[in-house]
Amino acid sequence: MRTLIKDGTVVTASDTYVADVWIEDGKIVGLTHPAQRGALGGTAADHTIDATGQYVIPGGIDCHTHMELPFGGTTASDDFDTGTVAAAHGGTTTIVDFAIQSKGSSMRAGLDAWFAKAEGKAAIDYGFHMIMTEANPTALADMAAMVREGVTSFKMFMAYPGVFLVDDQQIFRAMQRAGELGALITMHAEIGLPIDVLVQQALAAGRTAPIYHALTRPEVAEATGTERAIALAEMAGVPVYMVHLSAQRALERVMEARDRGLPTYAETCPQYLFCTEDDLRGEPPGQGNGGESDEERAWKGAGYVCTPPLRPRHHHDHLWRGLRNYDLQVVATDHCPFCMKDQKALGRGDFSKIPNGMPGVETRLHLLWEGVTQGKISINRFVEITATAPAKLFGMYPRKGSIAVGSDADIVVWDPTRSKRLGTDTLHMRVDYSPFEGRTVPASPSHVLARGELIVHNDQWVGKAKQGRGQFIRRGTFAL
Ligand SMILES: [Zn+2]
Repeated sequence: MRTLIKDGTVVTASDTYVADVWIEDGKIVGLTHPAQRGALGGTAADHTIDATGQYVIPGGIDCHTHMELPFGGTTASDDFDTGTVAAAHGGTTTIVDFAIQSKGSSMRAGLDAWFAKAEGKAAIDYGFHMIMTEANPTALADMAAMVREGVTSFKMFMAYPGVFLVDDQQIFRAMQRAGELGALITMHAEIGLPIDVLVQQALAAGRTAPIYHALTRPEVAEATGTERAIALAEMAGVPVYMVHLSAQRALERVMEARDRGLPTYAETCPQYLFCTEDDLRGEPPGQGNGGESDEERAWKGAGYVCTPPLRPRHHHDHLWRGLRNYDLQVVATDHCPFCMKDQKALGRGDFSKIPNGMPGVETRLHLLWEGVTQGKISINRFVEITATAPAKLFGMYPRKGSIAVGSDADIVVWDPTRSKRLGTDTLHMRVDYSPFEGRTVPASPSHVLARGELIVHNDQWVGKAKQGRGQFIRRGTFAL
């Protein structure tokens, strides 16, 4: 079975050119100039996709998702079935999700639990990072077994005392061990101990609305955590990757480190580029005509509770500049949806009990494309931060993340004129609200191919199999 994507404009992290893309057995087997098509004997295709006037880009790689994550007494509402199907509709063909080593349990048990969630369910390819909740001798030894399994990155938290938080000594030991193994440590770099004091004080003072989630997690907590994580990595002589960087001062710490030549990397997320702290305030008080109370109106901010919190608008420009200037390498989503009904509702009257997370795995490319149309990033940079850079940083390149001969045929035909209105009725994530309800984006995928199979065409799932067609990706070690 040979597939031809013809006359499209191929875009990689470095190049933009019109070409035919030939696909066989799930791989890209040829890139040719359209004028050569007739001259190449024996190259007739079984299936042809006309990409005239459209871009042919690598399938998106979202290296930060939480399908079916247990959090705060509930579980993220997308599982590996619904979440990966939604991802595919938005042009993402690979995710890297987070397995969890629970306190007192082994990494092996954590990995097996996440395999059980994903196997037979995932519609697109997936890998795992491993969250470490302790770095005792057993855990440090187990890291080698994880790397052999293709789980080559680990995440540690400076936040969430009593749940995920690990101290600097454990982080440092894990970093040294990661250095020996060729693994990458990723950091949630907000200092959680003082944050917890602010949270308790706010609640004691009767400040219970969603906005206090942001006001008790100030920018300085993230900037300081970022600086500390960089210092620990410098002492250990290893690279480090900041997940979900949200704020100007945290970015400045990363820029300083990179200017000193350190292998410091960071991702941001669409919510930090497109939403603001004001979204957490819900609707302004005293303006309702539907008889809603002020409390009811403020509660609508719960849908925007994620961690780190959304920041004031001026941070957007800094993050876009960071993406443009290579100080930020990746845009991932931290997709972790909870329904307003029954889930976010756990935090009514106590913002600290609102499950942390927003839906996003389906809308990442749609939103980021606005950066291209508004001249904030080039189209090549768009491809790099959504696919190529995560593939390289997390050991999947060149199998994933580019349009190249020999790579997996994970390809999106991106129609720059195919606008789409975002909303719960047009999106596929299993959640009862959209942070971007009613927003119209200018472009969207017309075709999504995963390992050569056309799985989404004009917003319709057309793949033969769905649940279980995704494969686990054994990722390589860190090699930038
Ligand atoms: Zn996360």
